[in-house]
Amino acid sequence: MTKTFLVTGGAGFIGSAVVRELIANTSHRVINVDKLTYAGNLASVASVAYDARYTFERADICDDDAMARIFEQYQPDVVMHLAAESHVDRSIDGPREFIQTNVVGTLTLLEVARAYWERTKQSEEDKARGFRFHHISTDEVYGDLDDDGSLFTEQTPYAPSSPYSASKAGSDHLVRAWLRTYGLPCIITNCSNNYGPYHFPEKLIPLMILKALQGSPLPVYGDGGQVRDWLYVEDHARALVQVATEGVVGDTYNIGGHNEKTNLEVVHMLCDLLMEMAPSTHHYRDLITYVNDRPGHDRRYAIDASYIQRTLGWEPRETFESGLRKTVSWYLANERWWKAVQDGSYRAERLGVLT
Ligand code: NAD
Repeated sequence: MTKTFLVTGGAGFIGSAVVRELIANTSHRVINVDKLTYAGNLASVASVAYDARYTFERADICDDDAMARIFEQYQPDVVMHLAAESHVDRSIDGPREFIQTNVVGTLTLLEVARAYWERTKQSEEDKARGFRFHHISTDEVYGDLDDDGSLFTEQTPYAPSSPYSASKAGSDHLVRAWLRTYGLPCIITNCSNNYGPYHFPEKLIPLMILKALQGSPLPVYGDGGQVRDWLYVEDHARALVQVATEGVVGDTYNIGGHNEKTNLEVVHMLCDLLMEMAPSTHHYRDLITYVNDRPGHDRRYAIDASYIQRTLGWEPRETFESGLRKTVSWYLANERWWKAVQDGSYRAERLGVLT
């Protein structure tokens, strides 16, 4: 059955992958609601922009009137909420914007969704029964782990470390409260670090690729021993669409790639791939420089994704090696996309340093 999906943050890195996945591989309609902050980029959804099932609305999720108008106009069956401020370093420099978008924005959306869902219940019982609010969150809400092989499960207590992860934890708590108190049909997913095409070059993997190609120093925070669990963005987008359509209301699903790597291992792999795909006279590894660590930097994240695997049968298709190769190849082939981003407000400067 064709449904209407309202995707917030659909011009961002993961949101655009969700929009492309919905248009390419389902028959659903998509309303992409995005404020187009520095991280939003309509070029990331250009491949689907002319599809009759796709509509873009430029709006701020904190704007009650705009959200109420959009719900009324498009009558969504599913909300996939990805809009957020998402960069930890920026949250250290300016936490207020993170609380505004991630907490107040989520509250606004929940209230508008609740009013819409209550009204729909009075007129269309079936549509209201099928309605879902899917909140997309991060594994960073769980804090960090020791190097002892332990994993984050859906039951791990919240212990966020940064203003970013605290704001996402706050939004997760709001969503659970709206489920429990008002019965709003909500689902939450918490995912590990994503990487892949259309990733804004302030994040580790695209930053290193572009700096290496430009022959600039590759800044590794601290000793580079921080461990992250990496998931290819298109695997995440597939998981999200599956949860939004087949997941159980009230459940939480952890999503991860079974790819634990230290940041230094990632940078080494990128340098080696670049030597193969864009050979240079000096090895890219020679550009690595160690810089002061991020304040409060989490040491290790690792996800136990067995629940989504067991209950929905989702599994990542890419290994880290295959996904990284696709990613490097995409950046090499899409200079126009990243040059336009670099010519904008961001010049690959260091962010998130306390003075
Ligand atoms: P992103 O920063 O690339 O994109 C965020 C998008 O939200 C942008 O298009 C931006 O314009 C939009 N936006 C920001 N504020 C808005 C507002 N007030 N109103 C409307 N739109 C607004 O982020 P991303 O990496 O694609 O992450 C998407 C979601 O997934 C976030 O909620 C993030 O917490 C979560 N997440 C990210 C990762 C990751 O590795 N990137 C991992 C797990 C979960």
